[in-house]
Amino acid sequence: MNSNLSRLQIYPLTNSQLGWPEKLALKSSFGFGICPVCGKFTIFTNFTDNLRESGLCKVCQSNNRKRQMAFMLLEAIYETTGIKFSSVNEFTEQASQLEQFVNFRIYNTETTGSLHNYLTKLKGYKASEYLGYEYESGETIHGILHQNLMNTSFEDSSFDFVMSSDVFEHIPEPYQAFSEVNRILKPGGRHIFTVPFYSDRYRDEVRAVG
Ligand SMILES: [Zn+2]
Repeated sequence: MNSNLSRLQIYPLTNSQLGWPEKLALKSSFGFGICPVCGKFTIFTNFTDNLRESGLCKVCQSNNRKRQMAFMLLEAIYETTGIKFSSVNEFTEQASQLEQFVNFRIYNTETTGSLHNYLTKLKGYKASEYLGYEYESGETIHGILHQNLMNTSFEDSSFDFVMSSDVFEHIPEPYQAFSEVNRILKPGGRHIFTVPFYSDRYRDEVRAVG
């Protein structure tokens, strides 16, 4: 784990001071920079007080949360393969020509959005949704793969990375799902995820009951 990531291990996260990019975004409702999803130098628009869910990339429509997922995905690729990509777009365009990614597999727990749209270019990419308790994991419903994250249909050690963005707070037994993710990840694999959290609290809040 590099020092940048280690610094994020302090919990609870008590520093809620806004930096200049956040202040600028809130004041003008837009920002600019290189998008880690599409790789373009672009404008991010429509910032709201909910910085996490706003600031849409003009090119790929990613919001801040999706760009953070993309950033961490690129960091994890660099940590595990030593290859640095500047965007998910660049990664998915080049991966098929690189031997490090011949058997590389990513599982994403959503089938829509900017990040998914670029990742579909990857040969070893799998995406699913949770479509209801009446379905079995592994079933395809109207062209969409259904998976219950507490008990997926995947074999042990199937994926290099598993990605979930604001999914685990909807799962009745989230720690069972974490255990399931651990089962389907290859040894040394990574789970890249976001969940809503309170920066000043240690304990879970129950938001989903089975
Ligand atoms: Zn973009």
